[in-house]
Amino acid sequence: MKKINYIVINKKSILIGLILFLILACVPLIPSLATAISPKAQYTVVIDAGHGGIDGGSVGISTGVIESELNLDYALTLRDLMQEFGFDVIMTRTTSGGLYSPFATNKKKDDMQKRKELIENANTDFVISLHMNSFNGNARGAQVFYGESDEPSKTLADNIQKYFIKYLNQARKATSVGDYYVLNAVKCPSVLVECGYLSNADEEALLISEEYKKEVCYSILLGVLEYFD
Ligand SMILES: [Zn+2]
Repeated sequence: MKKINYIVINKKSILIGLILFLILACVPLIPSLATAISPKAQYTVVIDAGHGGIDGGSVGISTGVIESELNLDYALTLRDLMQEFGFDVIMTRTTSGGLYSPFATNKKKDDMQKRKELIENANTDFVISLHMNSFNGNARGAQVFYGESDEPSKTLADNIQKYFIKYLNQARKATSVGDYYVLNAVKCPSVLVECGYLSNADEEALLISEEYKKEVCYSILLGVLEYFD
């Protein structure tokens, strides 16, 4: 159920927004952000940093960076951004560890179940799950996935992908249906963002840079703001 209380952007938020503008002066997102600063209905987003603990996910081909660590890094940046824009943010994890019980026999299954329960128990309006892709050396580009026959999630995914195409170097041309647990298991709009390919050395170098991380997170924010506009 949507909440109807509206937040008032206070002076502190405006100041922080202006500081963010200055910090990101090198990123060509400012015209869009300028229109985005307006009071928003207060929505609750669950930001899900994919993998964690014994499940590291993909590994960077050049640097050996672990996907679960990079996912967390992106998730924390996105959290800070979305909070500045008035969203209630709930994180599935804020440390390197997974959500599974140390006593679980199937830790991966327990981990996913815990994420689902967290999303269901939080009166969540939408979910953004963050991952890094891996395939072969040539594949590249950020891409947003949504569950099959899930129009609200597709709309949210398309909105985010639009800003990836606009602002990122060689984003994928379109969103795609993805058969992922986090997309299939929850009822609210949910998207899974593959920020790029750790199997591609050039893209790996981008993915581990602060600047690219900000561009990805701002593109996600802009897509979300448009979805709720
Ligand atoms: Zn992953």
